[in-house]
Amino acid sequence: MPDQHFQSATRSPIFLFNTPTTPPKPDRRASSLNLTDVVVDGELTYCRATCHCRRCDFRVVFRSKSIPIPSYFCNCSSCRHNTGQMAFITARIVGEPLDAEVDKPYRVDILQSYRPKERVGVERYFCPTCSANMLVRIDVSKEEEAVKNDEPMDCALGRNRSGELTDENRAVGWEWRVAGGALRVSDGIIEPKYHLNLASTMDGGFADHMKGPGSAVLPLPWRSPLLPQQQPKELPGYCHCRSIEFVLSRPGEAAKRPRAPFPDLIYPVDVTLRAKQQNPQDVKWWLSAPHSPGDPTRYLAGYCACDFCRSTSASDIQSWGFIALAHLRELHQKPGEESMELFCEHLRPKGLKQYVSSPGRYREFCGTCGATAFWWHAGRPEVVVGSIGLLDANMDGVRAEHWFLWHRDRVGFVEASPNQAMAKSLQAGMRVWDE
Ligand SMILES: [Zn+2]
Ligand SMILES: [Zn+2]
Ligand SMILES: [Zn+2]
Ligand SMILES: [Zn+2]
Repeated sequence: MPDQHFQSATRSPIFLFNTPTTPPKPDRRASSLNLTDVVVDGELTYCRATCHCRRCDFRVVFRSKSIPIPSYFCNCSSCRHNTGQMAFITARIVGEPLDAEVDKPYRVDILQSYRPKERVGVERYFCPTCSANMLVRIDVSKEEEAVKNDEPMDCALGRNRSGELTDENRAVGWEWRVAGGALRVSDGIIEPKYHLNLASTMDGGFADHMKGPGSAVLPLPWRSPLLPQQQPKELPGYCHCRSIEFVLSRPGEAAKRPRAPFPDLIYPVDVTLRAKQQNPQDVKWWLSAPHSPGDPTRYLAGYCACDFCRSTSASDIQSWGFIALAHLRELHQKPGEESMELFCEHLRPKGLKQYVSSPGRYREFCGTCGATAFWWHAGRPEVVVGSIGLLDANMDGVRAEHWFLWHRDRVGFVEASPNQAMAKSLQAGMRVWDE
């Protein structure tokens, strides 16, 4: 169990942005909105949601007066392992999702659904082609019962903290929530206010990085005393349904062999000379200094705010760890002898589905629960990136700082992020983060 301080904290919003991150003013927002993505029609506002492959394309409705909708990052282990993200943000919608063009219900059976077994009444919907975690459907009666009885819940997805639970919701018995990053425009529509369920992160997770100005209700940084003093030889990770279970080992000689151009996280692609971007000095930038003198070398971790990551995950912010494929194995493979195979069709992990997001760029996700797992490209096949949210937080916390050095200077593709407020707030938070 988490320590005393966090036990009590988990029953309430445990980390409050005292000042909203950077909420746009209504007039500014109206002028910057693409009208086909957001349509204000009197009391109701219609927002369009799409995934990267466009298999998902629908609208959701909010009450105009409730925008921007105060919402929260759920940091619970269910959300992390179900999405691969550090935290998951959603907002309750009015009624059910609508078709993109006509006023009739959207055919949600186009999406794949997944029911986390520990969350009775919760059904998650993701795109079976590109894996974007678009929607959540919640049985209101089960949720209200749990709130009434003050039952501890692993995930507070359905709690009445954002949007508006209407009599209509109660009458029909369910509510729908849309993922923040599923909206083509979420900046100014959904306003992150809280971090919830930090106890299971064991180290504060995303809350230490994604801060609002003046937000210091909790004494962060915090590290659970239950975390082991000594790190294990290998760090495990898994998706929610455990179809994907992997183990990461420390970078050895094999991790130094690949050559790879710099990622946008280190040198922004659109302002860096190609000659420099290509890494002519062969810097092994994915390998980082040890946590403390005498410790093993670490891998590099960072955030990406690009539209590819957003639209394939339905999260505005994606967390990636750059790892040497040679040091990644499936749980059933022999330690030190075998490593994960991503190229050869019949040797790939069974549960892993692949989506080609652009030529030569491959996104790998769990075909059962929809968790984003890995991303790699043909120009850098031996240095892959993995979703930090899938790591087992009980070993080294969600941020796994004994295994990863977090890049503090920059959020990848921050300038191109469709959610400028969130991406810039995160970048500012990283720069002042006191490890
Ligand atoms: Zn899709
Ligand atoms: Zn959750
Ligand atoms: Zn899974
Ligand atoms: Zn990206």
